[in-house]
Amino acid sequence: MAYLEPAPIKDKENPLESMMSRFDAAVKILGISDEMYNILKVPARQVIVGLPVTMDDGRVEVFEGYRVIHSTILGPGKGGIRFDPDVTLDEVRALAAWMTWKCAVVDIPYGGAKGGIACNPRNMSSGEIERLMRAYTIAMLDIFGPDKDIPAPDMGTGPREMAWLMDEYSKAKGANCPAVVTGKPLVLGGSLGRTEATGRGVMVSALAAMDKLKLNPYRATAAVQGFGNVGSHAAALLKEKGVNINGISDISGAYYNDGGIDIEKAIAYRDANKGSLEGFKGAELIDPEELLFLPVDLLVPAAKEDVITKNNASKIQAKLIVEGANGPTSAKADDIINEKGIMVVPDILANAGGVTVSYFEWVQNRIGYKWTLDRINRRCDRAMKDAFNNVFEVSQKHDVSLRLAAYILAIDKVSSSYKFRGGYG
Ligand code: GLU
Repeated sequence: MAYLEPAPIKDKENPLESMMSRFDAAVKILGISDEMYNILKVPARQVIVGLPVTMDDGRVEVFEGYRVIHSTILGPGKGGIRFDPDVTLDEVRALAAWMTWKCAVVDIPYGGAKGGIACNPRNMSSGEIERLMRAYTIAMLDIFGPDKDIPAPDMGTGPREMAWLMDEYSKAKGANCPAVVTGKPLVLGGSLGRTEATGRGVMVSALAAMDKLKLNPYRATAAVQGFGNVGSHAAALLKEKGVNINGISDISGAYYNDGGIDIEKAIAYRDANKGSLEGFKGAELIDPEELLFLPVDLLVPAAKEDVITKNNASKIQAKLIVEGANGPTSAKADDIINEKGIMVVPDILANAGGVTVSYFEWVQNRIGYKWTLDRINRRCDRAMKDAFNNVFEVSQKHDVSLRLAAYILAIDKVSSSYKFRGGYG
């Protein structure tokens, strides 16, 4: 199956390669058959579309859009849509598979999917982004559906884009369809707590791991890479639990204060400064890569994939890494990190709070009832804690890292569901 082989990327590890190497290791421990291996490896559906969009200056630009449904064994496809210049089909394939494993780890009835468009939303007007989102929705009209494939935000997209998707889809179907997408604005059927949910899950799993490591949050320090939706909420919520946040970063640079950064202030600064920390005065500016090597207890990579690699992993000083982003640690760095005795709460567990509250949003849309924030937070916290404990138990049983344990748990669940469903053709 040559078409599934990850394409080489110069000096970078292909995220699909990283995902597959962990998948292979877990499959070996589980002793899964070759047939089942191939069933779980090959995405159920891969769609590539060309999207002509009229730009503000009258030119027509054609964008390439992807949607990969990795699996529908546990339920409809579920996963975000990424707008980023670096989006590739391989990246979307890896991210789609990660969604399958993530949903299985937190025990929600979804398969895994992901979408992406190679574009730079920072250089596009709101009108251009809207036309692109609507064109993508129309192109995916037969793919998306509340029981088929349910998109959500990811890097470069948010509630505004989900509202356009919901509107375009509903118009085309001639009926209001809020359950086709999650991460919507509140007034359109979005859920309370969804925006903070991924950061909240990072906080809950970080505290669960700190408990195992006997680290007192009130005496702990942290560095958070990425100050978008995930990183900033994770930082604020960790601080609320007593953790001193010494370092933060975004694309403008990295900021360090050994006395602790006032996260509320940093968020207010960013919001008043077109989403950027550039010029933030509450900390000193340091080299962005140095943020990863700070002498802190907890490191939260919450920016993008492949930032902790075999070339820099040995310099990490943190005792605990909690992955807010998808795939921030390349597979080749795993051994170095394990040898150093650093505990890693892997992405498919640590950042699952987002899709968990997406699930709650979908449930609320389907029953036509709104839950309180308190109920959502309690259920999200419980789901995250249960998932952490289940993964921890598997890691003890097989004497493996939490990452491998999360893959083992997820793959075991998906493969046994497939056996019950049958359908070998
Ligand atoms: N994009 C988020 C993720 O990677 C959320 C997906 C969702 O809510 O469906 O988990």
